[in-house]
Amino acid sequence: MFSSFVPNQYVPSIYKINLEELKEKGMKSIIVDLDNTLVESDRRAATPLLIEWLERLQELGFQVMIVSNNNKTRVSQFAIPLQIPFIHKARKPLPKCFRKAMLELKTDINRTVMVGDQLLTDVLGGNRMGLYTILVVPISKTEGFFTKMNRRVERFVFRWMDKRGLLPREGNH
Ligand SMILES: [Mg+2]
Repeated sequence: MFSSFVPNQYVPSIYKINLEELKEKGMKSIIVDLDNTLVESDRRAATPLLIEWLERLQELGFQVMIVSNNNKTRVSQFAIPLQIPFIHKARKPLPKCFRKAMLELKTDINRTVMVGDQLLTDVLGGNRMGLYTILVVPISKTEGFFTKMNRRVERFVFRWMDKRGLLPREGNH
């Protein structure tokens, strides 16, 4: 019933993603959520650590695109200085934004990873599309109303998955 919510990996943060392993799996593109995945939702610019991580992705040959449900001001202010392509008001989990991202990155479902902190948008959307999905623990606890509502549903789904041993932990996927 909830299998669309089960990510391929579940890690404490983006920095714990094994990038070499993704390469070995044949992945070449990473679609990544912004708020509470890359930085806190109230942090306007990238941290030095994030910039370092993005540079590493580039060195490894990954293409990156930010796909966020947040508005143009927020997403463009963050992404433009980093020179990373982005889609704002993406309406995840709907499939359109994922298709658009893959088209722009000239990639396909077999070589694309979706990374995000929300089951109901990032993981559900990515799984339905057939992407390799990585759930990260959200960075910050200051969240808007809709995110809070989503979290309540998430906790329910988490418990359901945990009981059935469906939640892949780090190093166990
Ligand atoms: Mg998020």
